[in-house]
Amino acid sequence: MSTFRFQFIAIASLCILFSCATKEITTTPQSPSVPQTPPVKKKKAPKNIIMMIADGTGISQISSTQFYHSKPSNYERFKHIGLIKTSSASDLITDSAAGATSFASGIKTYNGAIGVNTDTIATPTILEELSERGYATGVIATSTITHATPASFYAHVKYRKMEEEIAEALTYSSVDFFAGGGLKFFNNRSDQKDLLSDLTKNGFDVATSAINPTMPTDPNKKYGFLLSDGGIPKMIDGRGSFLHDATSLGISYLNKDKDGFFLMVEGSQIDWGGHANDADYLIGEMIDFDVVLGKVLDFAKKDQNTLVIVTADHETGGFTLASDEGNYNKIKPSFSTDGHSATMVPVFAYGPGAEDFSGIYENTDIYKKIKALLKL
Ligand code: MG
Ligand code: ZN
Repeated sequence: MSTFRFQFIAIASLCILFSCATKEITTTPQSPSVPQTPPVKKKKAPKNIIMMIADGTGISQISSTQFYHSKPSNYERFKHIGLIKTSSASDLITDSAAGATSFASGIKTYNGAIGVNTDTIATPTILEELSERGYATGVIATSTITHATPASFYAHVKYRKMEEEIAEALTYSSVDFFAGGGLKFFNNRSDQKDLLSDLTKNGFDVATSAINPTMPTDPNKKYGFLLSDGGIPKMIDGRGSFLHDATSLGISYLNKDKDGFFLMVEGSQIDWGGHANDADYLIGEMIDFDVVLGKVLDFAKKDQNTLVIVTADHETGGFTLASDEGNYNKIKPSFSTDGHSATMVPVFAYGPGAEDFSGIYENTDIYKKIKALLKL
């Protein structure tokens, strides 16, 4: 054996011995039959929650932002994505009332129910529970603010069409900031009550003509914007930046609360475009929502303390990006129903706790996951 070869074998043997030794040290002291568990990482709880509901939005609606908008979709910024099953207690295909009540209260209820269970008993909502714990709270919608989705976070009525009762509930609710349509349910009511003056008595600054996203706000006051009798105009009819401005002002006001805030932002009319089987209407609303989503994610990224959850109550229209008569280079947005569908809808999450929202689960689990994260 040459000296070189002996030295090589000696060094190699030493290396093997050494590595065996180090390996043994790292695997002890646990007995081999006990499975190794990775060290538990302490989960950071979010301070603020922004829940964005794109009413009636399935995968095809979201995909339309990829094909019909010149800018990259803000949905692409999420790393944690899940799917929810949306059936209600009464129907395989949910409506927005039962859908939003499942998010707000963590229960399956009947179609049409606002914040009540199948026995029509009021169930506490996440907004109310967090308000009790000192959070500032807000609801924003492009529909009437008394419509099914926003209402399910602050009202408890048997049926979604009771918008006058819902307006009264909002007036005396724990909501600190709201913006949307529905003025007539406050100032032109069948019972002649003037809820605008009641809102003022209850500490609200109410505006009925415009929203200025940079207006100064006082954390000791509450703010309400009721900018039309029905829904806010469609994007294709020149709505402009309402959803953006309301969300921007809402966040800057609510973020003054030291305990944190809960804000629900709804793109209400994506659903209405689906019901109308009007692709231009739907896509206009979808792009508007996507732009606002981008601003919300910018805030959350800077803040580092905000969990953003983006989802839908259900899909509307059986919408699909089909080919135009077999031409695979041309998309013809198509519908299969003027109602809702039973398809699962995606959930996107960003911020502390976002990883909890991956997987396939029931719509009611969103409420449960938020509460678990906040240790409530
Ligand atoms: Mg809605
Ligand atoms: Zn609908």
